[in-house]
Amino acid sequence: MKNNCITSTFIGLAVGDALGVPVEFRSRESLKLNPVVDMRSFGTHEQPKGTWSDDSSLTFCLAESLCNGYDLKDISIKFIQWMGEQIWTPHGYVFDIGIQTRKAIYQLIDIINTKEYEDLKLLKYNDNEYTNGNGSLMRIIPLLFILKGKSILDQFETIWHVSSLTHPHIRSAIGCLIYLNFAEHILNGNSIKEAYVKMKTKISKFLKDRKISEYERNHFSRILDKNIKELKESSVNSGGYVVHTLEASLWCLLNTNSYSEAVLKAVNLGDDTDTTATVVGAIAGLYYGLNEIPKEWIESLVKKEDIFYLSNRFAKKYGYEMCHNKP
Ligand SMILES: [Mg+2]
Repeated sequence: MKNNCITSTFIGLAVGDALGVPVEFRSRESLKLNPVVDMRSFGTHEQPKGTWSDDSSLTFCLAESLCNGYDLKDISIKFIQWMGEQIWTPHGYVFDIGIQTRKAIYQLIDIINTKEYEDLKLLKYNDNEYTNGNGSLMRIIPLLFILKGKSILDQFETIWHVSSLTHPHIRSAIGCLIYLNFAEHILNGNSIKEAYVKMKTKISKFLKDRKISEYERNHFSRILDKNIKELKESSVNSGGYVVHTLEASLWCLLNTNSYSEAVLKAVNLGDDTDTTATVVGAIAGLYYGLNEIPKEWIESLVKKEDIFYLSNRFAKKYGYEMCHNKP
């Protein structure tokens, strides 16, 4: 098994997703009575053990596209092929798709069919703030490895374009930027706590410099102006709104000390269990490393060989073969 920071991130993400799938939409109260402590079978989507969902599928579509370089048209085609031809599905069919994502992919089909590829860059001007589900946050992590070290302004432009393919509003893009900036500090060797502190400074300055409206910035004030770690569990929301998923994920990572503890905390918050655990799982995998992910969980992952193969192709393309965070 090749072990580098790409593998641990991608496997960490898929394992988190698969832990969450059987209990998606379950309430926190019901999970308190019967908490998830291991990989389960069936449940909400009637899928066998180790089945990951749209979160992992779209992440791997993005990663596979990036293996051939950055191209919005190619990323769009992969998303379309996932919905229409079931590429990167665990069992050859799509069993879970967000409303906004489905609508957006139909729009991508129109753009690709008319060959107006430049329109992909205009999607970000859609300013409907009620399209801010967590559907771009859950699949954005591969961008970390191609944007590392670039200026935050350049990073934001790319992140917004890629988010816009399904989630065009600036709030989703800022959510993805916060997540990826936090992840970049971890990739640079910082602890989770240090990464959180550094991210807050960097993002606050960026939002000010770029003159982001107070209205928009205020949505992130619990993350940027307070210490999200200190929130009581009862104030942590774990539904499908991008800001809530980001808050819940940071809260889980800051309040735990191992991969398993972090992803299980995410799942047991309830509601959008698979996505919270996907967002947590990528960072926990990156930070704690592959050896800290329980072997039996990795073993149970559907199509794990495909995920390892993709991770290694991606690591080779972007020079991360020797990147080990905590071997
Ligand atoms: Mg899902």
